[in-house]
Amino acid sequence: MHAIELDPLRLLVGDRLRQSQSCHETDLVIANVPVHNLTNLLGAHLPQGYHQRVARLPEPTGAFVIYLAVRRHALPDQAPPHMQILDAFGALGRSLFISLSQEGDGRAPAGCATLTASEFTPAAPWFTSDVDYVDLKRQFTQRAIAQMQNYFLLDESTLLHQESATPRTFARFTARHRGYVGGLGMRIADFGPFAFSSRTPLGRVFLVGDNIHPGEGTAGVSYGAQTLVRQICQQFG
Ligand SMILES: Cc1cc2nc3c(=O)[nH]c(=O)nc-3n(C[C@H](O)[C@H](O)[C@H](O)COP(=O)(O)OP(=O)(O)OC[C@H]3O[C@@H](n4cnc5c(N)ncnc54)[C@H](O)[C@@H]3O)c2cc1C
Repeated sequence: MHAIELDPLRLLVGDRLRQSQSCHETDLVIANVPVHNLTNLLGAHLPQGYHQRVARLPEPTGAFVIYLAVRRHALPDQAPPHMQILDAFGALGRSLFISLSQEGDGRAPAGCATLTASEFTPAAPWFTSDVDYVDLKRQFTQRAIAQMQNYFLLDESTLLHQESATPRTFARFTARHRGYVGGLGMRIADFGPFAFSSRTPLGRVFLVGDNIHPGEGTAGVSYGAQTLVRQICQQFG
């Protein structure tokens, strides 16, 4: 979605893959984007107060994710499907969230496994010109592997393939502004009754996704969407 003209509600839809645009008239728009994307999309159609509210938000986080294909003997016997490793490198307060494929679940050939590890990271350094992006990515990759080596046998004999994703990757492939993931964060100032609502100042434009109450996660965004469906049914019948 590239632009919305209001009155009548007209959507100019851009297809990035085909590099084409088409125009649709509609009764309602439900935008499944972060609030930062919504303000970019709607520009001056949204009141200045809404823009200011978004601009005042503490910067949401991004994620660094490492994807490994390994020989199964790199993992302990009966390794659980999900693990969390608390930061082993001092007071950084970071955790690695790890998902491991299970033998026979179709995600890896027999005798092999996939290992996906993610951590939250501030988005800003990944977009700053005075930070060497390639070097930062290398540091994060090395640190994550070093952290996991305490639990898994990760060396040349077991590591078959490795890729990593940074906030820049998420920005490029999901179009989320600055690759923010994980919603807006859980702070009293912007949670519950103070959270962004599915209603926007524009009566026929609504918002869903991890930026509205109750926030991130598959369950959270599904609950938010269900609430919006009820609102729309009540309001428009
Ligand atoms: C590494 C990682 C691990 C996670 N693990 C879990 C987990 O284990 N359990 C869990 O419950 N949650 C997890 N989450 C969180 C969960 O993925 C998100 O909360 C959820 O996907 C958010 O849904 P959404 O609909 O708000 O946004 P998205 O899933 O990002 O969907 C928005 C969609 O809109 C598209 N889009 C954006 N802008 C435009 C545009 N201008 N035009 C067209 N399309 C556009 C995007 O491409 C995207 O497909 C994880 C997130 C990350 C990053």
